[in-house]
Amino acid sequence: MSLVDTLLREDLRSFTGYASARRSKATGRIWLNANESPWANPADAEGAARRYPEPQPDALRVALAGLYRTSPENVLLGRGSDEAIDLLVRAFCRPGLDAVVVTPPVFGMYAVSARLQGARLLDLPLQDTPAGFECDTTALAQTALAEGAKLVFLCSPGNPTGGAVSLARIEALVQALNGRALLVVDEAYAEYSAEPSAIGLLPAYENLVVLRTLSKAHALAAARIGCLIARPELVKVLRNCQAPYPLPTPSVALALAALTPEARQATAQRVALTVRERERLWQALQGSPWLRHVYDSQGNYLLVRCIDADVVLARLLAVGVVVRDMRSMPQLDDAVRISVGSPEENDAVIAALAGGATN
Ligand SMILES: *Cc1c(COP(=O)(O)O)cnc(C)c1O
Repeated sequence: MSLVDTLLREDLRSFTGYASARRSKATGRIWLNANESPWANPADAEGAARRYPEPQPDALRVALAGLYRTSPENVLLGRGSDEAIDLLVRAFCRPGLDAVVVTPPVFGMYAVSARLQGARLLDLPLQDTPAGFECDTTALAQTALAEGAKLVFLCSPGNPTGGAVSLARIEALVQALNGRALLVVDEAYAEYSAEPSAIGLLPAYENLVVLRTLSKAHALAAARIGCLIARPELVKVLRNCQAPYPLPTPSVALALAALTPEARQATAQRVALTVRERERLWQALQGSPWLRHVYDSQGNYLLVRCIDADVVLARLLAVGVVVRDMRSMPQLDDAVRISVGSPEENDAVIAALAGGATN
């Protein structure tokens, strides 16, 4: 039995999902198989939205495979990477029995999906070290193996902590879990990081899954396009668990337009600007009398510890700046996360929090 079959929920082993009209590759001239309207809506002059969309449009799979340097059959498109997280938990975890491991403080959707599925949630907390929050990947593997977890979620760069796990440590982790659990590396912020992507490890490890998204560096959060990159067998299994038509046609068109060479070049320039601004903001906030610590970051955000977070939030709000209060997260009871904005936006943050000010 293959690894995917071994780990998959037993009751889903022969599950093929909903057989939608679009999945049968019929050819014809007059399409009367999906109860669609023969006329376009007045709001949709070209009729672009009249038909149900391709479940996994080839052009977008090819474009994203090119962007992420992998093959189209390794790509599962979804409604943001959030959908991929949910699909993984639903396909691999039996309620009340199977477990996922997360590394708090971390992005909350892994726990939300686990909770909705009734999966057991195991925490291996990040360690707050002088070099920033770090993941003890050896302990992570031990926890996962000892508890027989199906999925291990690793966020790198970590949201909200900012640190990236080195590729060498990710490889050691995926190797330690091989045959026993899937390692899901969430690379939502990889564009901003100096660390190479884990996608390059895919040919060597069948238990590796990488998540990418167009929501952050590509500035298409509202389009809801993300993808899961894994071995074709896993992609196929998850596709059977996915909604029949997950990708709205206007979103797919927007994503394709965002992946032309010109658009990719503009995106790369914005990413480079964001990285420069991140370093400028980091430097400027070092001397802030309102902050206790500013963490290094490989993402497009900075995690800061405050002398008094209420004061920091109020000072920012007074100039119209809204940041993310992180105080409900474990180990972060004095922290806020500040997204790196445009130079002018960052100036507003610096002006509100920089040193020298009294008030
Ligand atoms: C923003 C974010 C996502 C969600 O991305 P979508 O593709 O918009 O669903 C996933 N993981 C992390 C760590 C994020 O911060």
